[in-house]
Amino acid sequence: MQDTYQTKGLRKKLIEELRRKGISNEQVLEAMNNVPRHFFFESAFLSHAYEDKAFPILADQTISQPYTVAFQTQLLEIKKNEKVLEVGTGSGYQASILVEMGAKVYSIERQKTLYQQTKKRMEELHYAVKMFYGDGYAGLPNFAPFDKIIVTCGAPFIPEDLKKQLKIGGYMVIPVGDDTQIMQRIKRVSETEFDVEDYGNFRFVPMLEDRNG
Ligand code: SAH
Repeated sequence: MQDTYQTKGLRKKLIEELRRKGISNEQVLEAMNNVPRHFFFESAFLSHAYEDKAFPILADQTISQPYTVAFQTQLLEIKKNEKVLEVGTGSGYQASILVEMGAKVYSIERQKTLYQQTKKRMEELHYAVKMFYGDGYAGLPNFAPFDKIIVTCGAPFIPEDLKKQLKIGGYMVIPVGDDTQIMQRIKRVSETEFDVEDYGNFRFVPMLEDRNG
């Protein structure tokens, strides 16, 4: 797949749209301008890659809406070399944005077909994401603690294991709720204290238990 003048132009327009919708972090906007979103699409939807919408990927999942990716990434306040855990690799697009911002990214996916497809894609595109086929509710205790954690599926509650794997001073950005979710940012203040901030309503595919496949 190629990144042509046309796709670069469409991407620039999308970035301007995100800016108009309130995304102001220049590093986030730059990362999203650098990563060709159409590389992460199924061929049937390719022509829609630069619309600010979610689209279907394998295993009945979706690649998140660009605004949502920008919003979550902005809340994470990523600094270079930070260790970040993503729950819900999906297409790999969000993980690539984090890599582009200089993070060391670990990502978990529970759908086997999607995990396999995305692993191959990330190798081809040379995005150095450490990918795991597993259940995001458990996190990655062997690689903890993480500076930041991002959950990209709708969680019915905040998983305890993920809280334990957050560094003190670190953030977890997670959409919490069943049919619709409230975007929450949880800051680990001390070993036992967590501050929670709410950032409005979103709609994600559900965070399900156990691996599939
Ligand atoms: N970040 C992705 C968004 C994919 S949608 C992207 O940029 O494309 C959310 C993903 O979370 C889906 O692929 C879904 O299979 C996955 N998911 C749901 N529950 C999970 C769990 N318990 N552990 C890991 N991944 C999960």
